[in-house]
This record gives sequence, C-alpha cells and structure tokens, in this order.
Amino acid sequence: GRESSSDDSGYEDFMREMSERDEKINSLVNMGFSEDEANRAIIRCGADADICVLVDSVSASRVAEDCHSRNLSDHQVTDRCFNSFGGRKKARLMEESRKKRKRYGGGGQGNRPSLDGSDEESMPLPNPMVGFNLPGYSGSSVTRMLSKLDTGPPFFYYENVARAPKGEWAKISRNLFDIQPEFVDSLHLCAAARKRGYIHNLPIENRSPLLPLPPKTIFEAFPHYKKWWPSWDTRTHLNCLQTCVASAKLTDRIQRALVSSSNPPPKSVQKDVMDECKKWNLIWVGKNKVAPLEPHEMELLLGFPRDHTRGVGKTQRYKSLGNSFQVDTVAYHLSVLRRMFPNGVRVLSLFTGIGGGEVALHKLGIHMRVVISVEIGEASKKIFRSWWDQTQTGTLIEIDDVKSLTNDRVASFISQFGGFDLVIGGSPCNNLAGSNRHHRDGLEGKHSALFYDYVRILNFVKSTMAGRRM
Ligand code: SAH
Repeated sequence: GRESSSDDSGYEDFMREMSERDEKINSLVNMGFSEDEANRAIIRCGADADICVLVDSVSASRVAEDCHSRNLSDHQVTDRCFNSFGGRKKARLMEESRKKRKRYGGGGQGNRPSLDGSDEESMPLPNPMVGFNLPGYSGSSVTRMLSKLDTGPPFFYYENVARAPKGEWAKISRNLFDIQPEFVDSLHLCAAARKRGYIHNLPIENRSPLLPLPPKTIFEAFPHYKKWWPSWDTRTHLNCLQTCVASAKLTDRIQRALVSSSNPPPKSVQKDVMDECKKWNLIWVGKNKVAPLEPHEMELLLGFPRDHTRGVGKTQRYKSLGNSFQVDTVAYHLSVLRRMFPNGVRVLSLFTGIGGGEVALHKLGIHMRVVISVEIGEASKKIFRSWWDQTQTGTLIEIDDVKSLTNDRVASFISQFGGFDLVIGGSPCNNLAGSNRHHRDGLEGKHSALFYDYVRILNFVKSTMAGRRM
C-alpha cells in the first residue's frame, strides 16, 4: 500500500484509495473472480494497479494453483498413463467401432490403451510427461501401430496445450483419427517447462535429438546469474514461458521488501518472493534484484536462434515467443523425417507463428522445398519471413487467414507441388489454456475452434492425395 501520511490530505488519499480499491474489487468480482482472489491481487499489485494488471495477476495465480494441483493428480495417475479413456467413452468407442475402424496408437508396449478408466472422457496426463520416449529417459518406451490409412504421407503433426479443459483432448483425438496424444513437458529436454500435447502419425522409433543438447538447467542456460542467486531460491528450471511478463512495479516491490529484510530474509518473505518468482519466471539479475527474462533469453530456452524475434516491439516478441513451439521438443519428434525425405519436404504450415516447426526442420538439416505458411499475426509473419529470407532457398507462399485457405485453394497447391509431405500446426489455445479461465470455453471457443480448420484442411489433403495416389 501507499506510505502513510499524517496530514489531512493523507487521510483523503487514504479514503480515495479505499474507494478505488472497492471499485476494483467490484469489477473483478463482476468478471467472475472471487472477492478473496481480488483482494489478494490488490495486495500483490497495489491498489493503484490497473485493472488489467490485476486480472493478469489473478489469472497467473490460478495458473500457479492449477500447476500445483496438477502435480498432485499427476502423481495419482502415474500408473494409468496412456490408458485413460473413461467408462462412457468406452461405450461410445465400442459403438463407433462398429461404424469405423479404431486406430489408437498404442499404450505401453504397443497395446491399445485399456478403456477401463473412471472419469468420462478424461485423459489424465502421464507422469513424468515424457511422451512416447525422450532422449535420456529410461522408462519403458512405447511402440505403436497405426493403421495403413493413418500413416503418412502426408504426415501430420498437431500441437496444443496439454492442460486443456476436461474432455477436450479426447475430442481433439476423435477428430484426428483417434490417434493417442503424446504429452510432453519440455522440462525434460530444456531448462523451462512447457506441457504440450502432440497428435501425429510420425513413426516414433529411431528419433534423434538436436545436437548439441540444449541447456537443461537455469544455471547451464544462464551461468552469469549464479552470482546473484540466493541460496533459498532452489529452482533448477523455469516455469512455462508465458505471453506476458511481470511489471517493473512488482520487481521493484520485491527489491524493496528484500532490502528492508534481514539476510537471509525471514521465511515468510522468502515464500512471498518465491511465489512471485515462480509465477512470473523471475530471475536474479543483481543484488536483491529480480527481473523477467529478456526476449533473447526466451529464444534460447525455446531453441530459436538468438534475435529470431528481433525487429518487432518487445510486447510482440514476448507474445509470439509465449505461443511458440519448443524447438528441441518438436525437432525430436520430426527427426524421423530426415531419413524419409533426403531431398526435402513440402510443408503445409497452419498457424505458423514465428515458425517453430520450420526452425526445427532447418536445425535437423531437412530442406524445405515448399512451405505454404498460414499465419494471421503481422508481427509473427514479419519474424518468420525475415528468418526464411536469411536461411532458406525453397518456395514460401504466405496466406493470412486459415479461413481463406479453401479446399479449392488447397487442391490447386496439391496439383502445383504434387502434394504435401507434412501438415503441421498448433492452433490457438486462447480458449483452452489455464490462464484464460473466463474465456475458457474449450474447443468451441472463438479462437480454439480454428482447430476444426486444421482438421478440415488435413482431411482434404489426405483424401485428395489418396485419390491421386501421391
Ligand atoms: N506453432 C507456432 C505458434 C502457434 S500459436 C510457433 O511455433 O510459433 C497460434 C497461431 O495462430 C498464432 O500465431 C496466431 O496469430 C495464429 N492465428 C490465429 N488465428 C488465425 C487465423 N484465423 N488464421 C491463421 N492464423 C491464425
């Protein structure tokens, strides 16, 4: 809160602050947050904080709580990973199986996952979240058998946030040939968490990671921060990199709290500071001084070349990096294409963003003969185009809106280029991600429904190529 003052104007200030505070609490409550959440956000950010800063703070707090509860439930489902469809789902699947083939991609050792779960349509996330296999992970690896109709070409690769509302991954899977999602937390490959689900029809044997392996801990990535890192901050990894970062107000407040504390600070101060550091991915850049990661540091953690996003405003850089693929993770999955396509690949890239998929292919040494890139964001397009011009020799065709990529246009690209080898994309997660609960209306939400355009286009490519035996 503000500093106290003994004169009358101080009292007026105080009264004004109290009524502003009440107004803000009211607004937050009207948005659907609890009074308690609103109060805590005001304590964290100050009564003079802008309402959107407060909304961010409540949302970030919920993410942190979600992560916590997710960890607990991850723990409970350890033994059930990959075999988690629920009871009513079982009935529906059996019904569907009469009508069409069912093609699950295998649970442990290639078996179809058991359908004897308990919750309807829940798809608990595996723990550890290492997908079907990961380098250096010695758990039992998975083999899977896809039906002939589901294997490529065209290969496809779809990505979205792992922690979507209940039932959404089952729905995504149903729309993508009932192939089982591969859930991976990039934490197992690099120094920052990123829990994502991937549905694809790529082989999962003989994958190879990008070399050199990325830094796996905060200090490996940023050794120079060791100097300022207090012993009571025991983090070795950062949390998921988000689209927005902490305000200077928050970092100043933390610094002031530490300067006026003993060294080491009391446990209660340590806890408050650590809560904020974890929530906002703050790092120690000076004595008692925390700061958000710089965009180039996020680029490093996400596997992009340094300055990949340079040339657009900082807010845009954070936004596009927060939405992007973790390149090492995606490259590990795509690495199997190298042997299959020694002459390069023709890519249909939906929701290209800043080109995480393309950067992965490039780093794998896979030539992109053609990329049809569909991306609506001006900043992302600029970033991607500039990277392409600097590194690629193939053909790039850009399309703004996935809605304008009609089946007719896809058909003409297929005739022009002789088909696609890879259809890749992660559709917007705005209505799925935990940090956006008040618009968290799932796949049918305004943004997330673009998933159905991915499905439409993929199905069209598949059927057209099958028809022409490409
Ligand atoms: N995989 C990408 C990021 C995907 S995030 C990467 O590595 O960077 C989803 C992307 O979909 C965002 O970049 C967003 O701008 C884009 N998008 C949203 N609506 C779209 C639309 N109607 N058509 C095409 N792209 C869209």
